[in-house]
Amino acid sequence: RQIAQRAAMTRDGQRIGVAANINTLADVAPALLQGAEGVGLFRTEYFYMGRAEPPSEAEQVAVFREIARRLDGRPLVVRTLDVGGDKALPYLPMQEENNPFLGLRGLRYCLEHPGLFKPQLRAALRVGAEYPVKLMFPMVSALDELILAQALIDEACGELQTEGIPFDDDIQVGIMVEVPAAVLIADHLVRLVDFLSIGTNDLTQYIMAADRTNAALGSLTQPFQPPVIRAIQQVVAAAHSHGAWVSVCGEWAGDTRATALLLGLGVDELSMAASAIPQVKRRIRLLDRGQTAAVAQEVLAMDSPTAIEAYLQHLDAQME
Ligand code: PEP
Ligand code: MG
Repeated sequence: RQIAQRAAMTRDGQRIGVAANINTLADVAPALLQGAEGVGLFRTEYFYMGRAEPPSEAEQVAVFREIARRLDGRPLVVRTLDVGGDKALPYLPMQEENNPFLGLRGLRYCLEHPGLFKPQLRAALRVGAEYPVKLMFPMVSALDELILAQALIDEACGELQTEGIPFDDDIQVGIMVEVPAAVLIADHLVRLVDFLSIGTNDLTQYIMAADRTNAALGSLTQPFQPPVIRAIQQVVAAAHSHGAWVSVCGEWAGDTRATALLLGLGVDELSMAASAIPQVKRRIRLLDRGQTAAVAQEVLAMDSPTAIEAYLQHLDAQME
């Protein structure tokens, strides 16, 4: 824990960002104690749960501001409301869907409900005037969605300007890569954003067509699958060729078995449950670029998820 407070640098001096995933304000202090260098994923939907109506813009400003204040200059990535799928909110209109995970979820839902979406964008923009806040959209599957979302940001900026309320007119924007379509058009999407964050939980679910909540599906829901690993490689290549940075914020980011591979694939930042941070930072410090590149090359040549998991597990155990 003590050394987790320092930056995570590989043996050959490559700095890897290590951030925390948080759900509530109360998660900030424990994340900092574990050595988080910021928040790479604030799951804002938790703020919308357990209440009778959506939080107002003012309430969101207050919470974003307090989180950012406690982060004391470290970055805060606000993921916009990710409802639908398995997350329903009683006060929000939601149609019965045959396949909720393939339905009006995440950014899709927000674009259909700008009255709900806009106050959240405005809140992030406002707090962005005081602290390093970034916006991130979940469940992006088409370029049009991103264009519409950017237009709403512009609209919100225009309103704030007119109202004389300070805001960040150059807020960093990113998207989560959680859907195979986003992987395949990552080179198009990345032109419109500053960063990509790979949500390996949903990305695995959608690539493998395997419900992440269905325990009977076993290894199909695990990211050790070759198509998931290839997807990460493609996303990193697309991002880096357009000068954007890439984070992984799914559970895999906090799994030390995956650290060498993710670094070898070129990922710039890992964002995870706070409890995983000290161990992952420790792993990063034991690795160097030659080694991680070799691991990635080895894994990319393997065809069996079981063999990949066993290989990475073995490597991990050797480093213990
Ligand atoms: C993911 O899908 O990997 C992710 C980080 O988002 P969530 O787990 O909140 O769906
Ligand atoms: Mg997700």
